[in-house]
Amino acid sequence: MFLPPLGRLKAALFSLLVFSILPACGTDPRPDTDIFSDRRRALVDELRQEGIRDESVLRAIGSVPRHLFVPGYLSLLAYANHPLPIGHDQTISQPYIVAAMTEAALTGRDSRRMRVLEIGTGSGYQAAVLSVLVKEVYTIEIVPDLAKSAEARLKELGYRNVFVLAGDGYKGWPTKAPFDVIIVTAAPPEIPAELVRQLARSGHMVVPVGDLAENQTLTLIEKSDTGAVSIVPLLPVRFVPMVHGDTE
Ligand code: SAH
Repeated sequence: MFLPPLGRLKAALFSLLVFSILPACGTDPRPDTDIFSDRRRALVDELRQEGIRDESVLRAIGSVPRHLFVPGYLSLLAYANHPLPIGHDQTISQPYIVAAMTEAALTGRDSRRMRVLEIGTGSGYQAAVLSVLVKEVYTIEIVPDLAKSAEARLKELGYRNVFVLAGDGYKGWPTKAPFDVIIVTAAPPEIPAELVRQLARSGHMVVPVGDLAENQTLTLIEKSDTGAVSIVPLLPVRFVPMVHGDTE
């Protein structure tokens, strides 16, 4: 190898530099992962300013690498507080909405033993945020390709307590019911009765109700310990429609 007329010391420093960089390049499959941590912290600050109060929810948002849940060409936009396209005409929800739904569903109770059902897996991001807060997450996605890629992504990133099913969320997941919490991330025109049935006593369900053309309202459904159901409108939202299985 040609060496320019460097002094011995410079040559030694040069090889030290090369050999200390090379092993790192060879063994880390995602050397760029951490450049997003500042953006993630800034997003958490923004959500706190927008009114998200539950620190455990904010910590969860701060720990999930949203840039790995969006298509690669959008990763630099992953920590802006916006929904983004994920293919198949679907979107990953805006981080504020993910945080607000998670907070409405979990806050005020010890979430660590909860079993949660999510309808609308999409990218798997909401499921990942939930998975760091609860015992188990069951999530159903009607587009088989999205279900498959979300399942692979969640597995690769180590979210081991998330179980993905390709199917129609209107049917829920009867063999795993009842659920302490149900989070619906696509908008049905009315509250799906079967999902209310699969909600445990003292359970909470959060669902955006209404047609896309009209106003949708994020709605909290609370089942009391006697099984009585109460309905609380929370805020106006805009979600993709929850479609029926027969359109698959
Ligand atoms: N929670 C997702 C975003 C959801 S977008 C995330 O964090 O990325 C809404 C998703 O609901 C879409 O992927 C759509 O295909 C799915 N969906 C629509 N109708 C459904 C149904 N009946 N059952 C299950 N999933 C449905």
